[in-house]
Amino acid sequence: MRALCVSIHDVAPPTLAACKVIAAAVREVDASIPLTLLVVPRYHGEAAVPVEYADWITERMGSGDELALHGYTHQDDSPAPQRWTDAIRRSVYTAGEGEFSALTCEEAARRIERGRRWFAERGWPVRGFVAPAWLVSPGTWDALQKFDFLYTTTLSRFHVLERGVSLRAPAVVYSTRNVWRRWASRGWNAALMRAAHTMPLVRVGFHPADAEYPHIMIHALKLVQRFLRTREALTKSAFARSVG
Ligand SMILES: [Zn+2]
Repeated sequence: MRALCVSIHDVAPPTLAACKVIAAAVREVDASIPLTLLVVPRYHGEAAVPVEYADWITERMGSGDELALHGYTHQDDSPAPQRWTDAIRRSVYTAGEGEFSALTCEEAARRIERGRRWFAERGWPVRGFVAPAWLVSPGTWDALQKFDFLYTTTLSRFHVLERGVSLRAPAVVYSTRNVWRRWASRGWNAALMRAAHTMPLVRVGFHPADAEYPHIMIHALKLVQRFLRTREALTKSAFARSVG
């Protein structure tokens, strides 16, 4: 059976309301779809963890969702890049949100360690790491070897770290930064999905901002519904474990 992974990016207290809207909308499509919640421990530096947020996470885990570590602050605060191509990649494409795009191995390991401790303090298991904006510096790849994560993902691939296996796994994500991109990403995603027909895994990733755009939500949810005809919805950990 081919697989579908549905995730919500940037799960953090400031995005809680939007995350709830998205999770409820996915549940309406099919209540048995488990979500992978990409959690940012200190989103934009914010340290507070309100009870309402912790309760929601606990409740979602209880109904089968999985948590993954999605950076520590999510923000790219590394020194300005030397090369203009790197500057474009880091600022235009991600709006400064690619926290792990330029980190050394030491700094990446330090942030991952802090993130893991944050999860451990709450008794929340974490088996996956997903870099913000999927930008993984060479130092971050090295740092990931020091930890026992089961998987990580990039824009077009799913990496089963334990086995050193990497698979092509297209991701549908929507860009909500302006109208033109909204339309472009809808057409692009539809084309991508026709091409993804035979692949073992497709991913649909929601961002909190998507909740504000009914057209995007409808489009994404229809895709989820269509994939469910031929694919089983799994958490990313469950998919990683199913890779032989
Ligand atoms: Zn993110």
